[in-house]
Amino acid sequence: MKIYNTLSRKKEEFTPRENGKVSIYVCGPTVYNYIHVGNARTFLNFDMIRRYLRHSGYEVTFVQNITDVDDKIINRASEEGTSPEEVAAKYTWAFEKDMESLGVEPPDIAPRATEHIEDMISVIEGLIEKKHAYASAGDVYFDVSTFPRYGMLSGRDLDDQIDSSWTEGKDKKRAPHDFALWKAAKPGEPCWKSPWGDGRPGWHIECSTMSLEYLGSGFDIHGGGQDLIFPHHENEIAQAEALTGEKFARYWVHSGMLTIDEEKMSKSLGNITLLSEALIHHSPETIRMLCLLVHYRSPLNFSEESLAEANASCERIRRCLFNLKDLLERLEGEKMNLERTERENKLLFLLEDSQSDFRNAMDDDFNTAAALSGIFGLVREINAYVQEVSSYKTPAARLMLSECEGRLEEMLDVLGLSGLSKATPQQYQASARVRIQEPIDSDELIKILLDARELSRETGEYEIADMIRKRLMNLGIKVEDLRGRGGRGQVLQ
Ligand SMILES: [Zn+2]
Repeated sequence: MKIYNTLSRKKEEFTPRENGKVSIYVCGPTVYNYIHVGNARTFLNFDMIRRYLRHSGYEVTFVQNITDVDDKIINRASEEGTSPEEVAAKYTWAFEKDMESLGVEPPDIAPRATEHIEDMISVIEGLIEKKHAYASAGDVYFDVSTFPRYGMLSGRDLDDQIDSSWTEGKDKKRAPHDFALWKAAKPGEPCWKSPWGDGRPGWHIECSTMSLEYLGSGFDIHGGGQDLIFPHHENEIAQAEALTGEKFARYWVHSGMLTIDEEKMSKSLGNITLLSEALIHHSPETIRMLCLLVHYRSPLNFSEESLAEANASCERIRRCLFNLKDLLERLEGEKMNLERTERENKLLFLLEDSQSDFRNAMDDDFNTAAALSGIFGLVREINAYVQEVSSYKTPAARLMLSECEGRLEEMLDVLGLSGLSKATPQQYQASARVRIQEPIDSDELIKILLDARELSRETGEYEIADMIRKRLMNLGIKVEDLRGRGGRGQVLQ
């Protein structure tokens, strides 16, 4: 299996720290607002990575923190006229609900920053002792000049970026890129006692502390959105490696950004779509499909068109599984016969091929777009087979159909799309099939078809008009157009 490592900027063979086990830390939400679809993409991508690693036989430990103390939470509390604790509790709950409705599995461990303040203080003390950090008027800063590898993740050359006129924090910091590990408390803010006075931790130290605590130095995958590469992840590496003298994380994996109608989604542009809003109009499977149709590192455009495409992709799979299950239901009670036709042997090979293609695509840095295109190919084959068996039942039909169902559902499950097979024939019928309960008036039915044909001709959809004419002809019903008489077709049986 190959994984693209942001640190080396190339795909690397994946070798975990411990044989058969994978440890993952993903930066979780700062709980000051409902999450938007861009945030959701990151969590869906890591859910997919986690599922696939587990499917590949690894025992996965997945840690994702909750940042429940932060400037944004404090600001939100004053906007909402409530306390930061209440803001954090409210949006943590909302986040968990959102993830549940998307079908994202909860983390194995979801540490909250406020439950680890003591640990953070010890880490900061360790950094001061090793002369990588300094206290200054109630704050503590990381001294970037003591960590020569700083910039290795983001590829930034700090010397080029130093603005000689920097003023922010100049009274407290030694250099512009030094960042806060501990912030002195301002009146009315949540704070904890520390050797440097009352205060609270900086955001970056939270993640270094909690990931080291639960996974230890040199854990396997550290993940987050691409927007976290700098400064958050760069700072996390500096803190952790300066403290331990060991490699912090083996693979850095970053999920691509989401744009809305080709524009960056941002509060200032006012084009944020909350996940909960998106879920009113679209199924969780559509949102997940939208993400999976694009490689996890590529940019993804969130638009009516891309959503419609994702929805149509879901529908293709749903319909295939529905028809397959419907036919299986009708074959129930028949013997599971092994006598396959030549055609069925070929289909069996194809099923096996499609599984290995799926694995190859996913082993290549989780290429879900390629994996899905294989699935759609398989769906086409299954559709054709279902059609054939519907009119000519073969002895091995039941066995073959179960085989198709099993393999397709297994791949969907790995991608978190098993919801697509949940539609029972009864549920699906409502939108896709007609069950005829009583003898029907065939004249009226033909009239409906002719009206539809006429309408499609008027609107220039000749393909539809032609399809209706041909299908009626196959039933022995000839449609003749009577020009100059209002254009109405006439039926000759
Ligand atoms: Zn983090």
